[in-house]
Amino acid sequence: MSAAAVTYSVIVPMYNEELVIEHTYERLKETMDEAGEPYELIFVNDGSKDRTVELVNLIAECDPNVRLVDFSRNFGHQIAISAGMDYAKGDAVVVIDADLQDPPSVILAMIEKWKEGYEVVYGRRLKRKGETLFKKLTAKAFYRLLRSMTNVDIPLDTGDFRLIDRKVCDVLRGLKEKNRFVRGLISWIGFRQTSVEYVREERFAGETKYPLKKMISFALDGITSFSYKPLKIATYLGFLLSLSSFVYLLIVLYQGFFTDTTTPGWATIVVLNLLFNGIILILLGVIGEYIGRIYDESKDRPLYIVREAKGFQATSDNAAAADKEADSNNGPENAKRLGKYV
Ligand code: UDP
Ligand code: MG
Repeated sequence: MSAAAVTYSVIVPMYNEELVIEHTYERLKETMDEAGEPYELIFVNDGSKDRTVELVNLIAECDPNVRLVDFSRNFGHQIAISAGMDYAKGDAVVVIDADLQDPPSVILAMIEKWKEGYEVVYGRRLKRKGETLFKKLTAKAFYRLLRSMTNVDIPLDTGDFRLIDRKVCDVLRGLKEKNRFVRGLISWIGFRQTSVEYVREERFAGETKYPLKKMISFALDGITSFSYKPLKIATYLGFLLSLSSFVYLLIVLYQGFFTDTTTPGWATIVVLNLLFNGIILILLGVIGEYIGRIYDESKDRPLYIVREAKGFQATSDNAAAADKEADSNNGPENAKRLGKYV
């Protein structure tokens, strides 16, 4: 099988997944063998501190369909997915979590839709098993908030488990933003999109790699990448407060001229002061979120740094990936290559 002729690329981002990865590989292999066309499994190691890489290396030695992209450190789930897409050569590209929460067999249903002519097939979760009530509620609230704040039609209750056509993958690679919210970007790109429904399973083993802190920064990326509304809150609030202070002024004037009530006022002043200072700081923080992201973009550093890329064969259309294999210290290479697709 020549390297250029893969039909399907399956991208698996991994962060400390030593407990699941062998099983995930077996399940994916089973499914993709059943699909009956040439495929590659691209495991992206996002700076795991456990034995994940060792295990994938062992698997790669036995299976020529397995590739490994090993990051120099943890860059984050969304970046790991993006890197997988840079390396993927398939006509259809599937992204799936390593923990088997997304059942691999659903990929077959996605492939069917793709063959019908859909260019994006996303998995819609009917149910989420084995996740905390907190996670379910915050996820639900987040998707609804995102939808109400953005003009992009981001489908509810979908994660990154999806199949995209080569065309979509190429467009996505051309979007250079560093704070990547991949599922939003895919919706923004458009094309013919559809969904397949599935029940989200429990994690096969190990624990979530999305602690609250990562969840919050992920949510902020999602909102700030697609919406200016939080910035507008400042303006609306400003108007509202000016209006109410004007009304209050009228009340004070009335009291001063027409009544004898002397207001002690100290407590009122302190409380109002604290309240308004709090609001101002929050709004400055909101603005800071945007400025921070502008700063990230303007530095124009490469999205990720690869320690090693294994299992990729050199062909003319992926010469850049081969460069990577040859040269491990390849930040600039990566930046150049990303630039090429803009
Ligand atoms: N992941 C990653 N880098 C990170 C965090 C997570 O590559 O910094 C991977 C992780 O190994 C898994 C996927 O992203 O394959 C989703 O993470 P997880 O299952 O922990 O998230 P949850 O399902 O709990 O939202
Ligand atoms: Mg998971």
